[in-house]
Amino acid sequence: MIVPLQKDDELIADFNEVDSVTGAIHVWWLGQSGFLVKWRGHGLLFDPYLSDSLTRKYEGTDRPHVRMTERAVDPHRLSGLEVVTSSHNHTDHLDAETLLPLTAASPGLKLVLPEANVDFARRRLGPAGPEFVPVDAGNFVEVGPFTIHGITAAHNEIEYDEQGRVRHLGYVVTCGKFALYHSGDTLWHDSLVKEVRRWKINIAFLPINGNKPERGVAGNLNGFQAAALGKAISASFVIPCHYHMFEFNTEETDEFVESCERLDQPHRVLECGQRLTMGPLVQTSAGDAWRSEPAEDEI
Ligand SMILES: [Zn+2]
Repeated sequence: MIVPLQKDDELIADFNEVDSVTGAIHVWWLGQSGFLVKWRGHGLLFDPYLSDSLTRKYEGTDRPHVRMTERAVDPHRLSGLEVVTSSHNHTDHLDAETLLPLTAASPGLKLVLPEANVDFARRRLGPAGPEFVPVDAGNFVEVGPFTIHGITAAHNEIEYDEQGRVRHLGYVVTCGKFALYHSGDTLWHDSLVKEVRRWKINIAFLPINGNKPERGVAGNLNGFQAAALGKAISASFVIPCHYHMFEFNTEETDEFVESCERLDQPHRVLECGQRLTMGPLVQTSAGDAWRSEPAEDEI
C-alpha cells in the first residue's frame, strides 16, 4: 500500500497552518481526482474520495476495487472548507461516505455539482448533505472568493439530461489572478480546448489512467493526451491524477512525464498528501497577461 507523503494529523496541520496572507495558492493531492486548495485562508476541495465505500461495494465481484494508496485524511477531521465539487455521479467523485462527514466538519459547506445531477445527488446524500450550488457547462457560480465555471466533459460521450444539461463537467476555478482547471473525468472532445482557453490556466489537474474499454468503465485521457491538452490550453503546470487508487484502473506516470518533456509542457507529479505552493504572481509587460514565478515545490 502506498503511504501518503503527509496524512491525517500532519496533513491537517499543514492545511491549517499554511500561509494565508501572501496571496500564494496551495494545493494538495488527496488521491484519485481529489485536490485540496487553499487561497487567502479559504478552502476548496475538488472531487474528494476519502472512504472505502467502493472497495466494500465491489468486494467479491469480478471488478474488485482494491485500494493502492492509504486514505490521506479522515473527512470527519478535515474542517475549514467552504466549497467542495463533484464533477459527475460516479462514486469516486460523489461519495456519501466522504461528503457527509465533510459537511459535519464544515457547517455551511457548499457542493458545486452539475445541474443535471441534482436529483441523483439529493437521493445519494440525503438531508444531511451539503448545500447544493448547481452549475451547467458554459455558466458559473460564486462561492466565497471562488468563481467556478462549468466545462463540458466527455466520459466517454458528452451526455445530456432531458433538459439539455451536461451530466459530466470539469471546472475552471478562478480566485484573485489564479485560474485552476480540474477536468473531471474526460476524454478529448471537440469543444474542450476552446472552452478552457478563455482563461490563462495556472494549474491543470488532468487524469492519466486512459481509456481501456476492456475494464468495463468509462475512460479518461491517457498520459500523452493529458500532456497534449496541457499544451493546447497553455497551462502553466499540469498535475496528473486518477491513478494509484484502485488496482484495476490505474496507470504509471512515465508516459505523461515523457510526453510533457517532449512537448516542453511544465508539470509536477505530486505524491498523495504532498503540497504544491504557487506564487507570488507578477504581471507581465503585456499588462493583462499573468504568469507565475517559478512554482515553489514545498514539502
Ligand atoms: Zn473517476
